[in-house]
Amino acid sequence: MTTAPRPTIDSVDVAGRTVLVRVDFNVPLAAGKITDDSRIVAAVPTIRSILDRDGACVLMSHLGRPAGTGYEANFSLQPVGARLAELLGRPVVVPGEGSVDDAAAAAVAAIGPGEVVLLENLRFHAGEKKADADFAAALAAYGQVYCQDAFGAAHRGDASMVAVPDAMSDSPRVAGRLLEAELKYLADAIESPARPFVAVLGGAKISDKLGTIRHLAGRVDTLVVGGAMAFTLLRAMGHVVGRSLVEEAMIEEAGEIIKAVEATSTRLLLPTDFVCAAAPEAGVATTTCGRDIEGDLMGLDIGPESVASFAAAVRGAKTVVWNGPMGLFEIPPFDTGTLAVAQAMIEATEGGGITVVGGGDTAAAVNDLGLAVGFSHVSTGGGASLRMLEGGPMPGVEALGTV
Ligand code: AMP
Repeated sequence: MTTAPRPTIDSVDVAGRTVLVRVDFNVPLAAGKITDDSRIVAAVPTIRSILDRDGACVLMSHLGRPAGTGYEANFSLQPVGARLAELLGRPVVVPGEGSVDDAAAAAVAAIGPGEVVLLENLRFHAGEKKADADFAAALAAYGQVYCQDAFGAAHRGDASMVAVPDAMSDSPRVAGRLLEAELKYLADAIESPARPFVAVLGGAKISDKLGTIRHLAGRVDTLVVGGAMAFTLLRAMGHVVGRSLVEEAMIEEAGEIIKAVEATSTRLLLPTDFVCAAAPEAGVATTTCGRDIEGDLMGLDIGPESVASFAAAVRGAKTVVWNGPMGLFEIPPFDTGTLAVAQAMIEATEGGGITVVGGGDTAAAVNDLGLAVGFSHVSTGGGASLRMLEGGPMPGVEALGTV
């Protein structure tokens, strides 16, 4: 369904019309300051495409997890509106204390071609998470065109993602440029990859990625698994892993999944060594261990032999998708494996390969390491990109229908 062609924002006449755009402005904030504006930057092409053609934009987004009982200053979209105004070089009005209050309605009624209103946080209303039809109808009344550009939320069935486009079934309901780009890279990589096709999975929890492993088995040529999730697989294979992170409750299922992958054409590549330490802290003494980690040590990154084999697999690939860091990348030197995978992916890109970095922690890791350039695509959606890799439903995309 997600691979079927959709109507896009550039195919619809927006002149003199108000476009209700669902964007993903769920950005990280610290003390009221935006610490990573990539999601705002990523929404600009769609917004500009509307404004440049004399349309008006009413933008809607969620931010964080407010209680859903009304306005909360620390979840306000005001700082996002200020940053967006800088990026667009024109004013962005963030009216009122809710998405559907009198101030919001008045601002939307006053909007003209080339103007932008950003509604306050959708999650100030309980109706957003509950996919409430009345809440959706109030939002739907704000525009004559619905545009979906919130890839990071497209795996959810919230009001603004599904009930609003449902309520606008007589209006054009189109995909924005970011959504199109995300779907193109993630769907194409999985449906029609250039080979060799390599997937790299990492991160803390195997339980989050079982669906992904099952879906990729038989589709990818090599499945590389690093990060703490590898320890649950190694335990299932009978290894001892010291005090490394393990999901005890998942060991049996991990054993089944290894057998399931081995029954396909996919080669499963697991670490053969680890960088270990007594504690997950900066400045601790480290030692290299093999697949068995004795005593009180913890495996905190993949070791040099694994770095070499993972990098070789990635470097030689024509399609690479990556989700999840190889180790405790926030604390050097345990970022070495993650850096090495990122660098091998950049080499794969330079060799003509298509390289896709999943959102969430992995995108944060490449941003933190200053490596965000050099990939074909860095996704803005953590959960959403994982859902695509598992072949799961994307309600926010399916609500748009097909052309
Ligand atoms: P996830 O949310 O499952 O993608 O996990 C990401 C987190 O896993 C990051 O914060 C990493 O620091 C952490 N992580 C990855 N490998 C390890 C490891 N070997 N030991 C401890 N934490 C790890």
